[in-house]
Amino acid sequence: MRMVQKLGALGVRDPRVLAAMSAVERHRFVDSALVNQAYEDTSLPIGLGQTISKPNVVARMIELLLAGHTGADGRLGRVLEVGTGCGYQAAVLSRVAKEVYSIERLRGLHDRARDNLRHLRLANVHLLFGDGMAGFPQGAPYAGIIAAAGGDAVPPQWTEQLAEGGRIVAPMVMAQGRQALVMIEKTAGRLVQTVLESVHFVPLKSGTA
Ligand code: SAH
Repeated sequence: MRMVQKLGALGVRDPRVLAAMSAVERHRFVDSALVNQAYEDTSLPIGLGQTISKPNVVARMIELLLAGHTGADGRLGRVLEVGTGCGYQAAVLSRVAKEVYSIERLRGLHDRARDNLRHLRLANVHLLFGDGMAGFPQGAPYAGIIAAAGGDAVPPQWTEQLAEGGRIVAPMVMAQGRQALVMIEKTAGRLVQTVLESVHFVPLKSGTA
């Protein structure tokens, strides 16, 4: 609850996001040696050189997605997450979206996420192993696409698989090699890109391992 209060103080306002963040126990997704840091606003290692994102960044990105196209019930339709990692963000997304397709390119983390999520029995989370740079056409079109890894550009497959009225929220490498959060909206077939605050995510890589 302290973590969620802090998110509120940091500017996260959407009650749907705050409710989802208070429902998912972040300590279940990190190594036992890091459990005492699980509710701090910090990224933490999850193995294979990857990290679980800061709670504030997870909340911010989901808030941006939810400000796009939701159903009458205030939920997003289908969402694609690129970079499952430990599965934490997928669990949070499962509370604000009807279906979550989450893809991971590292077999070890894909398996770990499956273990981490098993006890939650989230019937609307679909964990996929593969290269998320190609998106996941079988689940398209998506109301939202969220990436937890940053590349030099947003792959064209993501914008193709985005529904009308949908949003992509992703880190992207800008000039000078610095990353910024980027939001792309599809309205009337047009793509509108907004560059937001600077962020620090692991790199988006192609292929699987
Ligand atoms: N959302 C995750 C964050 C994991 S870090 C969580 O809550 O834990 C980002 C993840 O993106 C890493 O696990 C990395 O392996 C993965 N990744 C990087 N490039 C990818 C790609 N092309 N397709 C799928 N996953 C990718």
